[in-house]
Amino acid sequence: MQYFHLLFLAILGSCIGSFFNVCIYRIPNKESIVFPPSHCPHCKKSIPPWLNIPIIGYLLCMGKCKECNIKISWQYPLVEFITPLLFILLYLKFGFSFMFFQYIILFSVGIIIFFIDLYHQIIPDTLSLPLIPLGILLSLHPSAGVNVKDSLAGAITGFLLFYFLAWSYWRFRNKMGLGGGDIKLIAGLGAFIGLVGLIFVILISSVTALITILAIRYDINKQFSFGPFMIFAVVIYVLYGHNVIMWYLSLY
Ligand SMILES: [Zn+2]
Repeated sequence: MQYFHLLFLAILGSCIGSFFNVCIYRIPNKESIVFPPSHCPHCKKSIPPWLNIPIIGYLLCMGKCKECNIKISWQYPLVEFITPLLFILLYLKFGFSFMFFQYIILFSVGIIIFFIDLYHQIIPDTLSLPLIPLGILLSLHPSAGVNVKDSLAGAITGFLLFYFLAWSYWRFRNKMGLGGGDIKLIAGLGAFIGLVGLIFVILISSVTALITILAIRYDINKQFSFGPFMIFAVVIYVLYGHNVIMWYLSLY
């Protein structure tokens, strides 16, 4: 029976991932995510249904548009693979429970934000802001991952902390460090995962961002997307945070 559930999540997840690709491409351009149907971003020719099948379509046309031969971004099959993978990992951890659906929402918005911020250095308000009331609302359910007090504490602390950091950086270096999008996103994440989760996410995202900057010798005077690191950290927290915290405590 479980294999049936996994297969179902794999197929559903990759189809939903295919829709996320549309969102990632169209939301920053302020295009409708419903119309027109899938088309090549370059030659605008519509994509036939058999090439629209997640991952398989990409392999069938060997990563190129059938009409104009332009290369199709590796992001398309990647998102169609990551989405079902995360859905399956959530299912294996939580079963079909309330928390499963709670985190499906968080991860789904997270995947879209991850790539939009990576490409454009922006986090659209239409994605980050709804996370705040939604996270608080879902925390009212008795089986939610956090209670409402913790959810509010996470959202408010995240907002105030990042707002203060952004303000002081601007005040003393006269430059924008954290953007407004980051402040709204951390508040939204805090609403979903509470105060302990928030601290975990800030720590992990800061460390991974720092390692990345050093590893790729990124010029810190250029714009830097912090959103993808926060999303990565929130995924790690939801799936493995408990194990990581227990392991850390066992060191003492
Ligand atoms: Zn084309």
